[in-house]
Amino acid sequence: MTLEQSDLKYLKGIGPVRADILKKELDLNNWADMLYYFPFRYVDRSRYYKISQLSDDLPYVQIRGHFVNFAVEGEGRKKRLKAAFSDGNSIMEVIWFAKVDSIRESLNRSTEYVLFGKPNYFNGHYSLVHPEVEKYDPAAPPKGLEGVYPLSDSARKRGISQRLFPTAMRSLFASPLVANIPETLPQEILDRHGFMSLARALREMHFPTDAETLRAARQRMKFEELFYLQLHILRYARERSHAVPGYLFSRVGEKFNGFFFDVLPFPLTGAQKRVLKEIRADMATGRQMNRLLQGDVGSGKTMVAFMTMLLAVDNGMQAALMAPTEILATQHYESLRPWCDRLGLKIALLTGSTKKKDRRPIHKALQDGSLDILVGTHALLEDTVEFHRLGVAVIDEQHRFGVAQRARLWRKGSVAPHVLVMTATPIPRTLAMTVYGDLEVSVIDELPPGRKPIATSLRYDDNRMEINQMIGHELREGRQVYIVYPLIRENPKLELKSVEQGFERICGTFPQYKVSMVHGQLSPEKKDAEMQKFASGETRIMVATTVIEVGVNVPNASVMVIENAERFGLSQLHQLRGRVGRGADRSYCVLVTKRNIGGDTAKRLKIMTETTDGFLISEADMKFRGPGDIEGTQQSGLPMKLHVADLVNDSYLMGVAREAARGILDGNPSLYARTQEEDSLLEQKKSSPLPLSPASLSLLVSELRSRFSKEIDWSQIS
Ligand code: ADP
Ligand code: MG
Repeated sequence: MTLEQSDLKYLKGIGPVRADILKKELDLNNWADMLYYFPFRYVDRSRYYKISQLSDDLPYVQIRGHFVNFAVEGEGRKKRLKAAFSDGNSIMEVIWFAKVDSIRESLNRSTEYVLFGKPNYFNGHYSLVHPEVEKYDPAAPPKGLEGVYPLSDSARKRGISQRLFPTAMRSLFASPLVANIPETLPQEILDRHGFMSLARALREMHFPTDAETLRAARQRMKFEELFYLQLHILRYARERSHAVPGYLFSRVGEKFNGFFFDVLPFPLTGAQKRVLKEIRADMATGRQMNRLLQGDVGSGKTMVAFMTMLLAVDNGMQAALMAPTEILATQHYESLRPWCDRLGLKIALLTGSTKKKDRRPIHKALQDGSLDILVGTHALLEDTVEFHRLGVAVIDEQHRFGVAQRARLWRKGSVAPHVLVMTATPIPRTLAMTVYGDLEVSVIDELPPGRKPIATSLRYDDNRMEINQMIGHELREGRQVYIVYPLIRENPKLELKSVEQGFERICGTFPQYKVSMVHGQLSPEKKDAEMQKFASGETRIMVATTVIEVGVNVPNASVMVIENAERFGLSQLHQLRGRVGRGADRSYCVLVTKRNIGGDTAKRLKIMTETTDGFLISEADMKFRGPGDIEGTQQSGLPMKLHVADLVNDSYLMGVAREAARGILDGNPSLYARTQEEDSLLEQKKSSPLPLSPASLSLLVSELRSRFSKEIDWSQIS
């Protein structure tokens, strides 16, 4: 018998009925699943905190005392129970928003209680929201750190409680299967990094000795996970580097040089030059380039893209530039066309709204090779679009395109074209290496000189007069203004402002100016028409949802007002802010929130007022929200969620794991080969090897883990 073959029903306190529920609700199928089902947090039951000792950064704590007052407030959905709880010295507020009546009935003033919860700082006081409540039992034995296991609501409804886990885990750890669990990391690595054994680490994860040892156990588990992830990535990167053949662009010729010396209106930044060198090197290898170009809003990615396309043209090939929206494609086309004219190149625009009769000549020129550059939207992916020889495909704003769509472009030639993916969503390099494992990463980390500063400020709803005065001033100066809202129309359940409401209000406040309104429920034609009106200056104020976020360029706009700014992620705010500061001498970004926002939200928004560095902002964003919440990562199915490790906060450990994995692979070249099992696993999951979906990622990590620990005689590895 193995852990995988052992049924949960044999564990103490589980039995056949609960085993079935655990399987259906939590995907726990056997003893191995259970062993690796870790608490997501721990409660410190070793001591009682005093209210005066509470602070913002404490985890879950317990506080002992009496309720001294209860008050039920509000009606219906807003009904809440507010209780005052005393520890003998001070009093704190405790609040419940649900099950108000039954909770009120279960509590009284005479009993001594223990509350568990995370202290919440608000308006100068600490409070507990929905704490767990237990009667204080002086006879209970002293406790230490206790794990809290992740439970879904439906599992809870079906009778699975926290108490099930310690009991079941204890009987699991009593089994010889767990006691003799084979080590999954080589002894040499354990020794070098001072990691504890797997058996010990697993026990600590469920039954921590103390906070320090638990930390060490978690480090070991995280390292193991990152180590196997890195093994996978390195193997795949190596396989790819041998695999896909690409066009060899040996010439840097007439057009590239002609542009560089005669047309280019400004000197390239150092970063642009460096990235172009990286790209040229890729194209001289005979392998297909798959490169991600990261650069903050306004860092000049388009220039790099254009010069990359010229490399293709100089080598007798065509190039395509694909943008996620019609307006972006049009803007690209319009900015590239004058340059093409001067170089004697033929360029065309193809989007969903290109007329049939205009399509035919484009298709023809593409096929006979007389068209050099094609700019467009998804329309480029249609089967009727056939290139004579597509040498380079550039994709702007990557997060709107998935891996599958990139692959469709490849199929447009017998040899895969070089692919350059551009994104303004900066993510830290270590993270990029991991999530875009199939892409090399280039970074433009320098803005062109002479950028106009954007003064960013945080304002409250009751500063409305002041905000309107500032908007009015800029409008009188001839400038244009963006105002962004979180909702399209009012929703009684959410206390948020909406575009439709905002439109009315703005039209009323500034009757002398024309206003455009854009949101996701308008037809693409209507949306584009409104954007065009704003871009041409016909309308002076743009009221919109975040649909205006990507790439749009209206240099005359000098103000970006963001309503309910607390509802947006920092990266998103940064993208929005990037819409201004493109022309006017001075631009403004105003983040508007309600007066009472929590401490964390205030801290988060304050970052926006302190820096315009996209990388800093994105790192902060991930720390606050976790990478899984970052714009775009959800749709793209990137493996942001690991089991124990965290791709953002454990980037140092990831570097260590990468080096260790590289060492192992270098010493054992045969490990580079993929087994049939792995191939079929990837085939089943219908995913390209990377990026992986979270599910296939964890499958692969566990596959690799068992394969490596079986196949390798770790003692032979130095
Ligand atoms: P993004 O990286 O956001 O796509 P763009 O490529 O649109 O940025 O460039 C933003 C603006 O900066 C454009 O008007 C472009 O012409 C200008 N620009 C690009 N490179 C340079 C440079 N080296 N020096 C000065 N201006 C530049
Ligand atoms: Mg751009």
